[in-house]
Amino acid sequence: MNQQPLSLYLHIPFCQYRCSYCDFNTYTSLGDLKALYADALCQEIQQVGRSAANRYHAETIFFGGGTPSLMSATQIRSIMETIQAHFPLSPQAEVTMECNPETINQDYLRKIRTTGINRLSFGAQSAVGTELQTLGREHSFQTVETAVNTAKQVGFTNYSIDLIYGVPGQTLESWHQSLTAALNLDTPHLSLYCLTIEPGTPMHRWLHNGQIKPPDEDLAADQYELACTLLGDANFIHYEISNWCQPDRPSEHNLAYWRSRDYLGLGAGAHGHVAGTRYHVVKQPRSYIKRMNQEQATPFPFTSAVAGNESLTPDEQMGETMMMGLRLLQEGVQASLFEQRFGRSLTDVYGPTIDELTSWGLLTWHNHGESLRLTENGRFISNQVFHRFL
Ligand code: SF4
Repeated sequence: MNQQPLSLYLHIPFCQYRCSYCDFNTYTSLGDLKALYADALCQEIQQVGRSAANRYHAETIFFGGGTPSLMSATQIRSIMETIQAHFPLSPQAEVTMECNPETINQDYLRKIRTTGINRLSFGAQSAVGTELQTLGREHSFQTVETAVNTAKQVGFTNYSIDLIYGVPGQTLESWHQSLTAALNLDTPHLSLYCLTIEPGTPMHRWLHNGQIKPPDEDLAADQYELACTLLGDANFIHYEISNWCQPDRPSEHNLAYWRSRDYLGLGAGAHGHVAGTRYHVVKQPRSYIKRMNQEQATPFPFTSAVAGNESLTPDEQMGETMMMGLRLLQEGVQASLFEQRFGRSLTDVYGPTIDELTSWGLLTWHNHGESLRLTENGRFISNQVFHRFL
């Protein structure tokens, strides 16, 4: 049987401490649940694997969180073995794990490498001590350097570093320092995120109390521009709005999202999207474990832990394809793939909108209509451009 490619996202909802800006589905007091949680994840993989009935192989796997590197190597191994029993890994499969630099050591990295993890994503965030404090991170940049060098020593050649700009107190100079420090680690991939201060976080409270200044959008735009210049000079490819890589080193897992491919969401609070159906898993880890212990027969891709789902209309699917695809700066939305998928051409569906946005210099056709892409000006107001397709 011809197996279709699939991506798997696995959520690990445990952290040692809570960063001041974090509103992710993660918990600092539930560490005792890790073993039960790993078992529940294996049950979930088995359940969805049985209904998948050998129709899929895993092309990318991503352990995100939370802090996946808090799971023991034995727990990661049993999860990986369960995946491989139901979703055979393609030979070139990319298997990423997010790591907090202070949680790993050589022995741990060596062990998880033998489970099939072949890419690490380090949450560095900044190379400047005061900014790390503001962000509530408990590591120093020296810890990041040690973690990356240890990863290299044990044989990881593919890794990524996350940095944050728009941090209160951050300047153009200190941002330059963080970018340079990350480049000095010879990283094949960089993700640069603009800080958003979410309601309910300590940082939101500080903003409200006047302890920190509101974000300076102009400075953030200058910081983004500086990153574009610096990374361009270092021969990095700016392949997605917030992501840069050395040649042939993009995040294949995230490419699957941006190319609107199918992916499973496994673990507490995870989101999945398969064949035009979006779904989400129950958020609380205890409820998740409980639900996975009460197994019932469910149609693919659902499991006992799925808390809600919606079928997208063709219009919604096309809008989402535009929004995700235009994020890819070198690739854009491929006209032929769009037509193959929806049975209608890009110009048939969005002709007047595309004409308007191209006349304003925000979108551009490449190779005589082969693909539609954001222009440099379009990148700065990408959300407004995307909105026109939704
Ligand atoms: S390590 Fe990541 S997931 Fe955990 S609290 Fe910090 S930002 Fe949130």
